[in-house]
Amino acid sequence: MKIICIGRNYSEHAKELNNEVPTEPVIFMKPKNALLMTGKPLFYPEFTDDLHYECEVVVRLNKNGKFIQEKFAHKYYNEVSVGIDFTARDLQEQQKKKGLPWEIAKAFDGSAAVGSFISTDGIDLNNLDFELKINDNTVQKSNTGNMLFNVNKIIEYASKYFTLNIGDLIYTGTPAGVGALNVYDKLEGYLQGEKLLNVDIR
Ligand code: MG
Repeated sequence: MKIICIGRNYSEHAKELNNEVPTEPVIFMKPKNALLMTGKPLFYPEFTDDLHYECEVVVRLNKNGKFIQEKFAHKYYNEVSVGIDFTARDLQEQQKKKGLPWEIAKAFDGSAAVGSFISTDGIDLNNLDFELKINDNTVQKSNTGNMLFNVNKIIEYASKYFTLNIGDLIYTGTPAGVGALNVYDKLEGYLQGEKLLNVDIR
């Protein structure tokens, strides 16, 4: 399986990091070893001093496909959850300045936390509330209606370049409010008010 991530998919978040609002989806990937299932802790990596959270809605694919048209994309997934795209922001800033790829800042072990999945049956993926609490305080809260590129557009775009496979995950981008983490922080992710994710930083 692979983990496909979208960057800068909420304009308020793009602006908070002084990035341009993109006209096409910004895609990067994480390897299988990045996956961190809900309930497992993340050990603060020794190579960063600025570990950030990015709460994102995550879709799991249940069909293989390439060159998928937007209008058929809904046939390629049936589960959704909430996840964290953990980011070593200091390393990412260094890489961005040099024009280099982001993998060391984005794709490290445990960098893709994911919650329990729920069925997309009867759910409008373009109108989903999601929220991240840290130590019981809400730090990010948005609705998927604020995405620049919705899930079906992302699938059309990504599948032009890569075959999408059963079990692949799509991290759909984070809204404004990203920030730094500390050891002992407790993260909880909610979708439509339902808690699906918890990760402790150790
Ligand atoms: Mg992200």
